[in-house]
Formats: sequence, structure tokens, C-alpha cells
Amino acid sequence: MTPLQALQQYFGYSNFRHSQEAIIQHVLNKQDVMVLMPTGGGKSLCYQLPAVLLNGLTVVISPLIALMKDQVDSLNLSGIPAAFLNSSQDPEEQKDIAVQLKNNQLRLLYVAPERLFGKDTRLMVFLKTLNVVQIAIDEAHCISQWGHDFRPEYLMLAGLKNEFPGVPVIALTATADKLTQKDILDKLNLQKPAVFISSFNRENITYRVNPKKNSFNQLINFLEERKDESGIIYCLSRKSTEALAANLKDEGFSAEAYHAGLTNDIKAKNQEAFLRDDVKVMVATIAFGMGINKSNVRYVVHVDLPKNIEGYYQETGRAGRDGLPSDALLLYSPGDAMKLKGFAQVENNPEQSAIMLKKLDDMVNYCQLHACRRQYLMQYFDEAFPDNCGSCDFCLSEFVKFDGTLIAQKALSAVARVKERFGVTYIVDFLRGSRSEKIWGDHKLLKTYGAGADISKADWQRYLRELIAMGYLRVTDDAYASLRLTPKSELVLKGLEKVELISSQTTDEKETASLNF
Ligand code: ADP
Ligand code: ZN
Repeated sequence: MTPLQALQQYFGYSNFRHSQEAIIQHVLNKQDVMVLMPTGGGKSLCYQLPAVLLNGLTVVISPLIALMKDQVDSLNLSGIPAAFLNSSQDPEEQKDIAVQLKNNQLRLLYVAPERLFGKDTRLMVFLKTLNVVQIAIDEAHCISQWGHDFRPEYLMLAGLKNEFPGVPVIALTATADKLTQKDILDKLNLQKPAVFISSFNRENITYRVNPKKNSFNQLINFLEERKDESGIIYCLSRKSTEALAANLKDEGFSAEAYHAGLTNDIKAKNQEAFLRDDVKVMVATIAFGMGINKSNVRYVVHVDLPKNIEGYYQETGRAGRDGLPSDALLLYSPGDAMKLKGFAQVENNPEQSAIMLKKLDDMVNYCQLHACRRQYLMQYFDEAFPDNCGSCDFCLSEFVKFDGTLIAQKALSAVARVKERFGVTYIVDFLRGSRSEKIWGDHKLLKTYGAGADISKADWQRYLRELIAMGYLRVTDDAYASLRLTPKSELVLKGLEKVELISSQTTDEKETASLNF
């Protein structure tokens, strides 16, 4: 059977998506692979289909016991024999699965990492007697301390390649951050891995950020227009999920709460009800959603500021898996940012604190952005996205634009004059003619010094952010975060390209501009 035939016969799809076919071919050729695909991209198929074609057992390592059952049920429904082993099963059930494994009756076995690599080595010893032909590691970013979802038990997977030499490992994640990628490859010890990075763009999702004023009223207005549709509302705290769900119920909405502090029974009940469309709105902490495969989620709202872009993007990605138009709305307040800044301090770990703060800073910049949001997101994931998207609040908006070419020229030449060695704060001071000793001493003779004294500090910061977002400037990755020119800058400096900026008068930016990390 060819992969395409298996796709049609077992999964009922006519074509492969993204690079599914190439990924599958690598696994079939016994090569290690790392797969980066956005949520909803179709990662599971990348190991489930080889599992059907390969004559042996595929071991799937997955972090969330609660989700294994769903995956296994749906495989069995498609006629693919699969099972999971976890602590929720009684000894009889486990024995039954062991017998099936021994008789080579199963194609996929789902286990949690601690089950395989924990103190009790019986499962490992047993699996090594079987014909294991593929190992899939779901949510592979959990292995990285730099990621947003580190799980220490994933570190145990370092022994995988030793325990199963020659068995191809496929690591999958929806988190694309560079450090995390490197960590996955290093820590899993993958051998000459092929790396597949799919486009992270989710065309059918419209991104919006509104200033948070009275979040409950804002939510009601948003939900009124979507009464029959299903959606997820993310809150920061467990308590607020319950309070908000109760308040929404009082207003006649069909809502339930979900967070890690609820009993397993209640979590399962609420999740089921949501999946079956009996409950329309799930008010949840970020504990909800990983691995949830509900195709018709029409919107995701963040009532509180997410801690980083990775988490935000993964959560919003749960909308619109069916490809139909869907909405992502974030309610932003600078106060939330201050609060999170406090949380981002990791005790005795300045390096990690710095990374978390930088990620938070990127998140705040996204909220304060006056440029295409999708372009910013794609840039964040190192993906080229040259044009405005036409489907974010900026692209769709009433924001008034003006010819900002002269302003852009001043900013770009200031960056050039100081030899691209300084960051945003310094450039703004320089443009405004600050008399701080360093600037006055070093640069007062340069031509652009003080050329922008008529523009406020907050506006300059905003313009620089817009220029960065539009690719006329870039920020270095190092600790200095210096501003550098780009190939596009030259066109502006030579007067060959006009630049449109956003007028500050028409927006709520005044409220947020004062917050400057
Ligand atoms: P991910 O794990 O990347 O978030 P899933 O593996 O859950 O995504 O897949 C998302 C949805 O897309 C599922 O409903 C899945 O059945 C569907 N899907 C996967 N591959 C294809 C394909 N080639 N054609 C159509 N639908 C697909
Ligand atoms: Zn846009």
C-alpha cells in the first residue's frame, strides 16, 4: 500500500497537507525527523500513517494522560489497532494490552515518558523484546527549559536513542522558537535529523487586540454576535475562570470552566460537553486545549495577557481547525503586563528570567503594535511574510495613516549616524536632542541630532516599532538590542519608497504608550 492509498483508506482524506508526505517518507526510510507545524496543521498523521504502513509497533510518547484515550479511540474507530498504558488502568486492562503487544496485534502504543523511563523498568525491558519500528514524541517542546511548557519528565527521553538504536524518532511540536528547536535536537540526540518547518500562518484566523476597559462588557458584546458558535476564553487565574463562567451563565450563555485545580471528573465532564457542543463557551486557564481536537472552535479570546507569543499563538491556533473563518481577540491592559513582569522572575535563575522577560516584552510589543499583526507573528517565527495580511485589526482597521516618509528618513538616518550601535531608547533620545551627557558629548555634531524634537517620546517609540514591524529596521538578537538598517531602509533614505505611519490621534495607543519595558 502506498502512503496515499493509506491516507485515503484509513484516514479518509484525499490529499496530504503541508509536508506530511515528505515527513512520512523520511520515517519510512528510517530517518530521524523533527516536525514543526502549527496547531491544527496535521501532525498526528505524520506518525500515525507510517504506523499503519510499517510492520511493527509505533511507540507514541505524549505528556497528557487524559488525551491518550481520545487519540486511541479515534484510531480504533478508523480500524487502526492502538492502545495506551497509564496509571488510570487496572492491572487486568494492562495485562490485556501486554498480551496484544506480545502477539503483535497493536500498531500504536501511547505512553507517558515517566512510564517508560521511570524507576520501574519493566515496561522498557518488555518493549525492547518487541518489534518497535518508530518512536513519536508528541509536544516535543516540553523537553526545553526555554520553552513555555517545560516538563522535567521529558528530560528522561535523552536515553531514547540508546535504548532503541536504529529506530527512527519523530519529534513533533507546534512551538517554533529557535532555542527550543535546538534543545529538542540536542536533548533527544537525534541522528542527522531532517527538519520540517511548515508555514505557521493560519490564514483563516483574524487577529485583534482591543484595549481592556471593562472586560465583561467587552466579552458580552463579542459573544452576543456569536451565540451559536463555540469558543474558548482564556483567563490567567483558576478563580477567574470559575467566576467568569458563572457570570456568563447568569447572562444566559452556555459556559463552563476548566482549570487544573478541578477534579478529574469535572474536567472530563466539561471537556466532553464542550467537544459535543452541549456547552458553547469554555472559560479556561491554559491547562485546557493541548491536544484537544475540536474542529469548529470559532473564536479564542484572551481576557488576560498571555506570557509569550508561543503560548498565545498555540492557543489562538485552536480556533478554525476546519479552515473556516475564525477570530482571535485579545484584551490588553498595561496593568496585566506589569503583573506578569513580576511573575517572570525565576528565583536563582537570572538567565531564564531574562528569557522570560524578553518573551513577555515581545508579547507586549505585539499588543501595542501599529502594523500588520500577522506580519509580526510570522516574523517572530522567522517566517518571511512580505505583505500586509488584509485580515487583522490593523489591516482591516479604521486607523488613520499618514505619509510618514520624512519621519522614517529621520529615524533611519539617526540609526545610520550612530553607526547602528544603539537601541530604541537611545535613538529616541538622540532624535529628540536629549542633553544626557553621553548623547550630547558623543553626537551633538551629527546632522540628525535633535531633528525630531517636535515629536513626543511615546510617538517616536511607536514609529520605531512600526518601522521594525514593516522591516525598515531590525533589532539585533544580542543583549544590546541595537537597531540596524535593512535592505529596505536604503529605498526610504534615497526617497525611492514612501512610508505610511499611523496617526496617534485616532487610537487608544495613548493609554499604552507610557508602558515601556
Ligand atoms: P495538530 O496535532 O498538528 O494540532 P492534528 O493532527 O490534530 O493537528 O490535525 C488537525 C486536523 O486536521 C484533524 O482533524 C486531522 O484529522 C485533520 N487532518 C490531518 N491531515 C489531514 C489531511 N491530509 N487532509 C485533511 N485533514 C487532515
Ligand atoms: Zn494584517
